[in-house]
Amino acid sequence: MNYQAVFEEAIVSLKDEKRYRVFADLERQTGKYPYACYRNGTSTREIAVWCSNDYLGMGQHPKVIKAMTTTVENMGTGAGGTRNIAGTNHPLVMLENELADLHQKESALVFTSGFVSNEAAISTIAKLLPDCLILSDQLNHASMIAGVRNSGVAKKVWRHNDLEHLEELLKAAGNERAKLIVFESVYSMDGDIAPIEKIADLADKYNAMTYIDEVHAVGMYGPRGAGICERDGVMDRIDIIEGTLAKAYGVLGGYITGNKTVVDAVRSFAPGFIFTTALPPGLAAAATASIAHLKASKEEREGQQRQAQRTKDILSAAGLPVMPSQTHIVPVLVADPDLCKQATDMLLEKHNIYIQPINYPTVPRGTERLRITPGPFHNDAMIEHLKDALVDVWQTLGISFQNTGIDDLEAPGAILHHAAGG
Ligand SMILES: *Cc1c(COP(=O)(O)O)cnc(C)c1O
Repeated sequence: MNYQAVFEEAIVSLKDEKRYRVFADLERQTGKYPYACYRNGTSTREIAVWCSNDYLGMGQHPKVIKAMTTTVENMGTGAGGTRNIAGTNHPLVMLENELADLHQKESALVFTSGFVSNEAAISTIAKLLPDCLILSDQLNHASMIAGVRNSGVAKKVWRHNDLEHLEELLKAAGNERAKLIVFESVYSMDGDIAPIEKIADLADKYNAMTYIDEVHAVGMYGPRGAGICERDGVMDRIDIIEGTLAKAYGVLGGYITGNKTVVDAVRSFAPGFIFTTALPPGLAAAATASIAHLKASKEEREGQQRQAQRTKDILSAAGLPVMPSQTHIVPVLVADPDLCKQATDMLLEKHNIYIQPINYPTVPRGTERLRITPGPFHNDAMIEHLKDALVDVWQTLGISFQNTGIDDLEAPGAILHHAAGG
């Protein structure tokens, strides 16, 4: 066995498909967001970041920074162990209280990332339910798919946001069988939103449990930033609401909220919770400060919605193929992995604009795109600059301005259920 050759070939095949990933070496500077310093070998220059999931700039908010630094000074850096071994740091107790209140649930449980929370909670809940059938939306995130897989239970994948298909599968399973419906509120690559209330109606009708990933909505939607379920007045209709502390809240960590019993069961049985060191106190305190701020302040949310809409309007008016999106996410279709990479290279080298190319398996082949995430700190002049840069890149590389959507492309099938996304 030539071990080395196996890994080399794996990388070569990625490169052949033009989806080998290179990360920009960036240094964010407090107070300058969304500008950052880009290091390219020996040279450094300032670039504008248009693809961050620190959607509201909370990662540099003075209250959040202060909460983290003072907590680290008072309590040190690490958590000192798993919660089973070392107990719970008080800031984590406060954070879980804040999260339960945010989603108006009895309990919350914090994990070291959103990925871990999905993997641990979905797999544990499904395993505990006898003969459980998981019904998983076709476009669910890789972390949810990891949970579905690791549960080892039976699964059916329903066509993305297709209520009829979901109902068909629920009906076939029958009222008596345990069923867990797992889906997202905001789908992060297309920016569309699940019909949450109708899914909850189906869950009631067929006696199923519901689990929603609100990772791309928490902090950003609803009067207190609890997400789309809050905005739509359906938080109490979903059994488990999962979220991250790493995107709009600008810190790190993931969580679930739900009733006391189900959260206690996950706490007691999930290896992804039990056997890994807890979130450190500084991060917990920073996340709490961020959530508390966004509960009370609408300014960031309104700024994000305004600038995202403006970006969509201005790019569309320039004839760029902005994909339909109901949210703050602005996808622009390239529909070719090589051109997608070339476009982002050129944006960075020529226009000082940083946008990562989004390729398979994060999105289906043929739907490669730029995923732009405007926030409250992307001002009008920056949007103009972005538009001019994109038009230049589209013209120079000969990318089609005619791509209007992906409806004419073959449905992606359950691609993401077979490949690890990222
Ligand atoms: C990013 C993401 C996660 C994982 O959250 P992290 O806190 O980054 O681990 C889960 N679900 C979705 C839909 C995501 O986009």
